[in-house]
Amino acid sequence: CDIYGPSIPLMLGIQNVEPTMTMAGKVIPVVQNNLKVMSIGIVAGDDAPLIWRGPMVTQVTRQFLHQVDWGKLDILVIDLPPGTGDVQITLCQSIPLSGAVIVSTPQDMSFSIARKAFNMFQRLEVPVIGLVENMSFYQCKNCHQEIPLFGNKPLEMEGAPLLGRIPIDPKLVLSLDRGENLFLLSESSPAQEALTQVGDKVLSIMEEQLEKREKWKQSDQYIQSIQEPKPGELEIHWGSGKTDRFSAFELRLACPCAMCLDEWTGEKILREDSIPLDIYPQKIHLVGNYAIQIEWSDGHKTGIYTYQYLHKLAETRKKAQEEAFEI
Ligand SMILES: [Zn+2]
Ligand SMILES: [Zn+2]
Repeated sequence: CDIYGPSIPLMLGIQNVEPTMTMAGKVIPVVQNNLKVMSIGIVAGDDAPLIWRGPMVTQVTRQFLHQVDWGKLDILVIDLPPGTGDVQITLCQSIPLSGAVIVSTPQDMSFSIARKAFNMFQRLEVPVIGLVENMSFYQCKNCHQEIPLFGNKPLEMEGAPLLGRIPIDPKLVLSLDRGENLFLLSESSPAQEALTQVGDKVLSIMEEQLEKREKWKQSDQYIQSIQEPKPGELEIHWGSGKTDRFSAFELRLACPCAMCLDEWTGEKILREDSIPLDIYPQKIHLVGNYAIQIEWSDGHKTGIYTYQYLHKLAETRKKAQEEAFEI
């Protein structure tokens, strides 16, 4: 789906298509070349405003996600405007994105916008699949020499592979203007080859990431659920199948925050007799993918328990119990 530009209907040759609705009032996406498409250009036609204010864009983004009858999809591609505004942030926070592909022309100004996007995706824990350099060069028809149009500086960002460089290609420009599918034309073209390569790379990287994610979900670094089998007792079910049982009192006492534990000496500041015996967790929040934060019934909530710390606590207690048993 495409939010800002009414250009997508033109490029796909679906300018004059009227969208239809399901019985439930959802918009049915237009299908072209085996692609389900939704665009502001389809909904608003040529009357689409050229300037969108932030809140409106955010609202449209939500509608495209939830009020369009997408059905079953292999991949949902969301074309975002450049930058790091409301739309991007709303999107990253409202649905779990598999990854982001950053597209930039090889110019310093576009680079700096792309770099900001890269940093934003990293901060919001959206994996960056890679970079695509658009309008990289023009290939001379006669001698096949690559003539750079903007500059020779390659697009580089640490931790993000370059997926491909798309040349300026008259065939691509023409096919987009006519709303024809470049991939259905009889003759291949430089842009088509480059785009195919980018598509293949994106797919293989996404598959790798999916595998990694599955492995991670079956490890000790992933919490499947936290349960409270009885008041004052907490059970953490890890992805690996391991279960750790803690008493709320024990966890509250082990709070690693700077108010409870001296950061430098590692000495406990919190006094055991200051904790109510009937303490219980009111709320538990996930912190990124590495820790939980607990809001206790005594009002204390600054403790962040990393998964590593929780494993260590469980291990230490197990050892202590074994030793006590031996004696
Ligand atoms: Zn030449
Ligand atoms: Zn604390």
